[in-house]
Amino acid sequence: MKIIKNHLMKEYSNMKIGGITKNYFIVENKDEIKNILDNYRNIFIIGNGTNTLIRDGELETNFVSLKKLNKIKKIEDNIIEVESGVDFSDLISYVEKEDFTGLENLAGIPGTVGGLIYMNGGAYGNEIFDYILEVEVLDENRNIRRIKKENIDFSYRNTEIQEKKWVILSASFKFEKGFKKDIVVEIQKKRDTRHPLELPNLGSSFKNPKDNFAAKLIIKSGVQGYRIGDAQISEKHPNFIVNLGNASYEDIINLISHVKKEVLSKTGVSLEEEIVIIDK
Ligand SMILES: Cc1cc2nc3c(=O)[nH]c(=O)nc-3n(C[C@H](O)[C@H](O)[C@H](O)COP(=O)(O)OP(=O)(O)OC[C@H]3O[C@@H](n4cnc5c(N)ncnc54)[C@H](O)[C@@H]3O)c2cc1C
Repeated sequence: MKIIKNHLMKEYSNMKIGGITKNYFIVENKDEIKNILDNYRNIFIIGNGTNTLIRDGELETNFVSLKKLNKIKKIEDNIIEVESGVDFSDLISYVEKEDFTGLENLAGIPGTVGGLIYMNGGAYGNEIFDYILEVEVLDENRNIRRIKKENIDFSYRNTEIQEKKWVILSASFKFEKGFKKDIVVEIQKKRDTRHPLELPNLGSSFKNPKDNFAAKLIIKSGVQGYRIGDAQISEKHPNFIVNLGNASYEDIINLISHVKKEVLSKTGVSLEEEIVIIDK
């Protein structure tokens, strides 16, 4: 295990904002995670930081990176076990090489497999849980458990893993043969044209309310393009908040509050953040 003391977290959030943590742990095995949880408080498991906003200044939060848990293993012909630190783009390369179909619509999501499972991330009609058989977690009693998908509560951008604060160690997936490269190419094109990838951002800021779209509600409320400091509701995609250069944590938080207030007063709908916020 490697421990980096007094580490600046700015580069570990895709919003390029973040203060100084006392401890940044890079673990190499499951026992090290248990050890940290037994000995430290305020632990946050960080993947690629593509959905996480981190406060400025001195942080009480200690961060644990599982990026070294990054193996993909074949269990049976069409079943694989993937460690949670695997970069999702590496999993896409793997399924392409093995000619497995299923994950194509999710291609281009910039997180880790752990981050995607935690959120039940998804895109274009699919979500990561569609192809999961079971998830291996370190539970609240420090027991390692393999839980079948049917015994895990999950829904749109939500899993019980969040509320139980389990650490995701790995997951097994089952696929059919027939990787569809054309879908990946088409989706990457859509992402390139629709998303403000040229600026720091965290993807969709708000969850889509039932039978509605956060982006539509934001446009309807007249806040697309609204700016506080260097934080702006993207002109390209209204559900993305972008950092125009030197946005502070406060700028982003104030912008989120403003959007929620305006959307509620103009449309009657309460938006809920999709991004994860570290506020201490
Ligand atoms: C340009 C862009 C496009 C995006 N498009 C999409 C999209 O189409 N669909 C979508 O769903 N998301 C999208 N996102 C959001 C984000 O990429 C996903 O939510 C992704 O799954 C987050 O993964 P991460 O590793 O970066 O997680 P992080 O931001 O590092 O962490 C997110 C949460 O997951 C938890 N977590 C991470 N790993 C573990 C683990 N092993 N065990 C327990 N908890 C863990 C963290 O503690 C945190 O609470 C996009 C983001 C960007 C910047």
